[in-house]
Amino acid sequence: MYPARFEYHAPASVDEALELLERYADEGKVLAGGQSLIPLMKLRFASPRALVDINRIHGLDSIQEDNGFLSIGALVRHADCERSEELRGRFGVLGDAAPQISDPIVRNRGTVVGSLTHADPQGDWGSALMAAGAQLEVASSGGTRTILLDELFQGPFTTSLQPNELATAVQIPDPGARAGGTYLKLERKVGDYATVGVAVHLSFDNGTVGRAGIALTGVGPRNIRAENAEAALAGAELSDEKIQEAAELAAQAAQPRSDERGSADYKRSVVRVFTERGLRKAAETATA
Ligand SMILES: Cc1cc2nc3c(=O)[nH]c(=O)nc-3n(C[C@H](O)[C@H](O)[C@H](O)COP(=O)(O)OP(=O)(O)OC[C@H]3O[C@@H](n4cnc5c(N)ncnc54)[C@H](O)[C@@H]3O)c2cc1C
Repeated sequence: MYPARFEYHAPASVDEALELLERYADEGKVLAGGQSLIPLMKLRFASPRALVDINRIHGLDSIQEDNGFLSIGALVRHADCERSEELRGRFGVLGDAAPQISDPIVRNRGTVVGSLTHADPQGDWGSALMAAGAQLEVASSGGTRTILLDELFQGPFTTSLQPNELATAVQIPDPGARAGGTYLKLERKVGDYATVGVAVHLSFDNGTVGRAGIALTGVGPRNIRAENAEAALAGAELSDEKIQEAAELAAQAAQPRSDERGSADYKRSVVRVFTERGLRKAAETATA
């Protein structure tokens, strides 16, 4: 099916984009990689009056460390992350997630930030970045603000972003020298959305866990932070008992539904197993 008629704008600067978003308010939509928005428009689930294509804006396509944050710009594609040296080791949760997203065609166009603003509960970046404690950097004609991902995701395909706001980057706090993480994804076939995904990100401080981040994909109406599991690990030694306790708490945080991909019990038990595996791998990377 063809999309409904729309106006098309390709601003050359962030300021120009913000002026357009202000003008069209909730009748305008940002176009980044188009991997989610264009299919929705073709199905006529979305019929914006105007598209604000940000692909010609310079300066939004880099991954850089700045002021204690690693910043991933709004035009950084999944494939850029797959190839990035910065997203290994301490930021391994991100480097591990990137190649597990769909296929090379989607990864070449789709953006990390577009994934977050789309807020699909089966989106892999939401969990990987939430585990890493990330925040979205947002601009509007009124100024800039940051939103923690936990506060960004309101429900399926719903965020706290306002129609006049442009997300310019996602920022990940520096986890310190001894940190590691991973993203584990169960999919029916390569390139599929997650039946279950678990993101784990650990930083260590004098031999004990400093900060623990654990987030779940595909087992609830949004990406879920396993807060009780994180709290059980913070400040503790990462013993076998602690790992099992955290894995059990993560499984309890999941809100899976039975469907053609598996029963709720099965998905919950995958969360338990993946959390345990993820914690062991994160600890290995952090102490390597
Ligand atoms: C066949 C297929 C398989 C896929 N498989 C997976 C998968 O396994 N895992 C996974 O995580 N994802 C998957 N996806 C989704 C993919 O990751 C998309 O790239 C991503 O969801 C959206 O990014 P985008 O840049 O294409 O955004 P777009 O489609 O351009 O936009 C998506 C939404 O975000 C808004 N938006 C985009 N950028 C901004 C911004 N900077 N500021 C404000 N609003 C913005 C748009 O207005 C729109 O509402 C798949 C997609 C396809 C087509």
